[in-house]
Amino acid sequence: MKVEGSCHCGQVTFEAEIDPADVSLCHCSDCQTLTGSAYRVTVRAPAADFVLRSGTPRIYLKTAESGNRRAQAFCPHCGTPIYVTEPDEPRVYGIRVGTLKQRASLPPMRQIWYRSALPWVTDIRDVPHIERQ
Ligand SMILES: [Zn+2]
Ligand SMILES: [Zn+2]
Repeated sequence: MKVEGSCHCGQVTFEAEIDPADVSLCHCSDCQTLTGSAYRVTVRAPAADFVLRSGTPRIYLKTAESGNRRAQAFCPHCGTPIYVTEPDEPRVYGIRVGTLKQRASLPPMRQIWYRSALPWVTDIRDVPHIERQ
C-alpha cells in the first residue's frame, strides 16, 4: 500500500510502500515519553521503499539498556516524530503512523510491550465523547 506522510509544519514530507498487516502499537515507556502520549503506532517499510520528498529530519540516537542503538528521526522545526531506523545502515524504517495521510485505514495488528501499558489505556471507550475540544 502506498502512503504519504508529513510532519505538522509541512517541512518534512515522504512517501513509502507499506504492508497494512504490519502496523504495531507499542506501550513501552520510551514510546510514551518520546511521543508525549500513551502509546505509539508504527508501520515498517523496507529502506528501499521509503522516499524523503522534502526536508531533513534530525536524529536523536536512543541507546537501549541492551546497548541497541536506534535513530529516532523528527522534524527539526515542529518536532513531529517521523520514523525510527538503524543508525548506521538503515534497512527498515519504522514510520510513525500519525504522520500518514492514510492513518485512519491502518489499525494496529499487534500490541507490544503490553506489560508497561498505562492501566487506563484500554478503558477509554466509555469516557465522555465531545466531537470538538
Ligand atoms: Zn515539521
Ligand atoms: Zn516502544
